[in-house]
Amino acid sequence: APVVAVVGRPNVGKSTLVNRLIGRRQAVVEDVPGVTRDRVPYDANWNGRRFTVVDTGGWEPDAKDRARAIADQAEIAVQTADVVVFVVDVTVGATDVDEAAVKMLRRSAKPVILVANKADNQTLEIEATSLWSMGLGEPYPISALHGRGSGDLLDAVLDAMPPAPPIIDGGPRGPRRVALVGRPNVGKSSLLNKLSKEERAVVDSVAGTTVDPVDSLVEMGGEVWQFVDTAGLRKRVKTASGTEYYASLRTAGAVEAAEVAVVLLDSAEPISEQDQRVLTSVVEAGRALVIAFNKWDLVDADRRYYLDKEIDRELRRLPWAIRVNISAKTGRAVDKLAPALHRALDSWEQRVSTGALNQWLTALTQATPHPVRGGRAPRLLFATQAGVAPPRFVLFTTGPFDAGYIRFIERKLREEFGYEGSPIDISVRPRK
Ligand code: GDP
Repeated sequence: APVVAVVGRPNVGKSTLVNRLIGRRQAVVEDVPGVTRDRVPYDANWNGRRFTVVDTGGWEPDAKDRARAIADQAEIAVQTADVVVFVVDVTVGATDVDEAAVKMLRRSAKPVILVANKADNQTLEIEATSLWSMGLGEPYPISALHGRGSGDLLDAVLDAMPPAPPIIDGGPRGPRRVALVGRPNVGKSSLLNKLSKEERAVVDSVAGTTVDPVDSLVEMGGEVWQFVDTAGLRKRVKTASGTEYYASLRTAGAVEAAEVAVVLLDSAEPISEQDQRVLTSVVEAGRALVIAFNKWDLVDADRRYYLDKEIDRELRRLPWAIRVNISAKTGRAVDKLAPALHRALDSWEQRVSTGALNQWLTALTQATPHPVRGGRAPRLLFATQAGVAPPRFVLFTTGPFDAGYIRFIERKLREEFGYEGSPIDISVRPRK
């Protein structure tokens, strides 16, 4: 959904205005000057159009420390917003701080709607016209407290939004949740932008689902996918104080919220420890995995040779991962992502019947028994698939199994039943 950021100095009435915009009178915390407040998103709806209102702390450009952090938050909010509502207190008029905010807003090049708040009576409403001098176009006089003028304001906000995208049905269970992760600069935001543009529809509303405002809906292969926790991924945000905001620092959260992860690697760079950590976090969270080698447009014959060796060496522990070689820049093979994600998700949710599992596993463990330990070879008694997403198997045995033997069973399970793109979990319960 489009994002509307509400910014302004402390005490100009932002919180009251946010309450007006979202149509309830609750929850929104009042400004406390100098107290850090994160950008808080609220769902709103006007004339059937859904959008997200982001409430920010009071913007004070030259303040120190905590107030600085609030200003940073406000700038991030502006840079990730589709429309900015800039609130000025008409009883005070435009202050130096307001003028400084105008500069920041100009830099952002976002559509800005100037609100002259606290225009509680006609005299103040007329007073509001003096704010034309701020150079932000027509000031909207409103009284957030009494509700005066908020309808006109909402109309203006809607007019300034990008046009509503088509509604696409995400299917009976809603769109699949994807985490787009990888170290900084591998091209996550480039890919997300590419996907949103190529397939055109960043979908606004999907039948039967609620989409968190920090997520993005993207159409791939005629279907809607929910890319989770992408706020801040579309744009690299740099604030005045030089703080860079990377969504990639929140890999763990995105992976947890997703069903399948696309781990982006930079084909032009060696596979790094940081890449390995991202891969590990996906496997440990038990999510389906697609590895996308991005920047494939930079891979020449030479690099190809070394890359193949590197992949053999560095990704040996993940022979089951699905690989695609893409370029977010040229769009190469980006259409391979959706089928790859489906294959991984199918594996992730695959179920093997207890009968088939036991028949096959009994034969396997009889043909290749566990090595003798302490004079005996522990045997399999019974196996069952205890769950899916990812597939989890429990083996009841006469004694503990070696890690090596469990790996052998996993390899054979994969050969027999697939599981391409999904981790699988095997636990052994020795009989007491
Ligand atoms: P993020 O930090 O993972 O979001 O990475 P960005 O999307 O900001 O990309 C980092 C840099 O890599 C930018 O300069 C991009 O233009 C560049 N880039 C991204 N994808 C590709 C690609 O497929 N090919 C090439 N040559 N450059 C790319």
